[in-house]
Amino acid sequence: MTTFHELAIVCERIESISSSLAITQEVATFLRALEESELAVCPLLLMGTVFAEWRGLELGVGKSLLYAALSSASGWSARQLDELLREMGDVGRMAEEALRRRAQRTLLSAFGDDGGLSVLEVYDILERIARAEGRGSQGQKVQHLEYLFSSCSPLEARYLARLVMGEMRIGVGEGIVRDAIAQAFGVSSEEVERAYMFTGDLGEVAVLAMRKGSEGLREVRIRLFRPIRVMLAQIAPGISAALEEMGEAAVEWKYDGARVQVHIQGSEIRIFSRRLEEVTHPLRDVAEALLGCIDAREAVLDGEAVAYDPSGRPRAFQYVLRRFRRKYGIEKKRKEIPIHLFLFDCLHVDGKPLIDESLRERRRTLEQIVRESGVVSVAKQVITSDEEEASAVYHEALDAGHEGIILKKLSSPYIPGRRGKHWLKVKPLMETLDLVVVGADWGEGKRAHFLSSYYLACIEDDTGRLLEVGKVATGTTEEQLAEITEMLKPLIISQEGTYVRLEPVKVFEVAYEEIQRSPNYPSGYALRFPRFVRVREDKSPAEADTLSRIEELYARFQ
Ligand code: AMP
Repeated sequence: MTTFHELAIVCERIESISSSLAITQEVATFLRALEESELAVCPLLLMGTVFAEWRGLELGVGKSLLYAALSSASGWSARQLDELLREMGDVGRMAEEALRRRAQRTLLSAFGDDGGLSVLEVYDILERIARAEGRGSQGQKVQHLEYLFSSCSPLEARYLARLVMGEMRIGVGEGIVRDAIAQAFGVSSEEVERAYMFTGDLGEVAVLAMRKGSEGLREVRIRLFRPIRVMLAQIAPGISAALEEMGEAAVEWKYDGARVQVHIQGSEIRIFSRRLEEVTHPLRDVAEALLGCIDAREAVLDGEAVAYDPSGRPRAFQYVLRRFRRKYGIEKKRKEIPIHLFLFDCLHVDGKPLIDESLRERRRTLEQIVRESGVVSVAKQVITSDEEEASAVYHEALDAGHEGIILKKLSSPYIPGRRGKHWLKVKPLMETLDLVVVGADWGEGKRAHFLSSYYLACIEDDTGRLLEVGKVATGTTEEQLAEITEMLKPLIISQEGTYVRLEPVKVFEVAYEEIQRSPNYPSGYALRFPRFVRVREDKSPAEADTLSRIEELYARFQ
C-alpha cells in the first residue's frame, strides 16, 4: 500500500528538481513501485488533474469551501487563512503552514508517515467530493475535505490543497508522465502516446503498459462512447505558404464554434466536447437531430457546433459554451441559442476504424452516411491547389462571420491529439497582449551588450500580483534592441548570471500564435511564438492585460 505521505514526499522531491529528465526518472521509479489499483490513479494525481477527462467528474471545490474545511481542521479563521495565503503565495504552502502551526499550538508532533491516509483512500474521498450533488452537497464536500485535512501531515496538506484547487503545478505534465510510463515498463513513448490518444487516461495506459507491455498498448483502438483526443491544426502564415506545403488541399471554413465528437450506436448517442466532457444532455436537440440523419449502425464523427443569432450570423463561440454548461432550462436555452452542427470527419463506422484511412476516404464515408437536416450538415469543402480559389473560400468564411479556413492534406490520416502539418489553419492575426516587463536576459555573442529577451507578466485580477506568462526574444530590430536596453538598464533591481530582475514599470505589446496552458509559468499559461510589437509608452503597468483576459483568449481557441 502506498501512503499519501509517500506521494507527498515524491512531489516535494520533484518540485526541487528542474531537469525534466530527472523528473521523469523520479516519476518512473515511483510508478514502478505501485500496485495496479494505485497505478490507475497516481499519474493523474501527479499531474494534478485527479480525474481523467472522459469521466466527467469535477471536484467543484473553490476557495471558500477549502477555507471552511481548513478552518475546522486547523483552527484558523477564513480571514487568517486568507492573510496566510497572501504571505505564502500559494494555497499549498498556506495549508501546510496552517496545519504546521496548529500542530505546534497543540503540541502535537508532526503526523507520522505510517498508518496515515493511503493514496487510494484520498482518491476515493476526492471522488465522493466530486460526486456530491444537489442539496447539502456543499456541506458534504466540506466534511470530506475536513476529514482529509485532519488526517494529513502538513506536507500532505500542501499537495492536497493544491490538488483540490487544481493548482498542483509541480512540473509534471502529460509529456513527463508519458515518458515515465515508457521508462517504468519498458515500452516506447510513442506507444504510450498512441494508447493515451484513444483512452484519454494515462492511469489506464500505465496499467496496460505494466500488464501487457507494448503489445497491449498497440492493441488499443477507438471505442464507442470513449471520446478520443481530437486532431488539431497548426497555424500557417498564409494561404500561399499553406498550399506550398500541401500542393492540393481540402479547403474548409474554420467555423467559429466549439468542437464536438459524436458517438452513435443504434439509438444511443453521446456527444463530447473538445475537452472530452460529455455534453449530450445540454445538446439534446442536436443529439435528436443526429439520430435521425446518420445512416449507420455505429459511427464516431467529428465536427463543430455553431450558435446562430436570429439574423443567421454565427454568434461568438462563448454562446455554444453556454449551452454546453447548461444543466437546467435546456428547452429555453435551445430556443434562445439554436445550434447547427457541421460535421467534417468520420473516425469509425460500423465496426471499422477509419483513422488510418486518408482524409479523402473518410470524407467520402462521411458524405455517404450523413443525410443533411436543418440542424446537421457536412462542412463545405473545396479541393484546390489554386491560391485564388482558396482565398475566395477564406473571404467567404470571414464574410459569413467565421474564423478563416483550414487547409487539410487529402492523403493524411486522422492523428488524434496532434497539432501537425496535415491541417493548417489560416486566420487573421491574433489580438495582441500588453504585458509588464519584469525581467530580461543579457544576450550572447554580438548581442552581449543588449538586454535581448524579456520576461513578461500579466496582472492577477484580484490581487494585482504580476504573474509571468512567457519570454519574448524576437521581433526587435538591432536599433530597437539598443533603445530598449537603454530604457531598461536604470530599472535593474538585481542580477543573477545573465538574468536581471527589473522594476516592473514598462509595458510591451506582444503578438503570439497561441496561448497554451503551462506549468512552467506562475500564470499557468504560456505564449507560443511570442513576438515583440512595440513598447506601450502610453500604458502604465496597472493597465496591462489581466490573467482573466488571457484565460478568455485561451478559452476562445479551445
Ligand atoms: P484552433 O483551435 O485554432 O487550433 O483551431 C482548430 C479548431 O477549429 C478545431 O478544434 C475546431 O474546433 C475548429 N474548426 C472549425 N472548423 C473546422 C473544420 N472545418 N475542420 C477542423 N476544425 C475546425
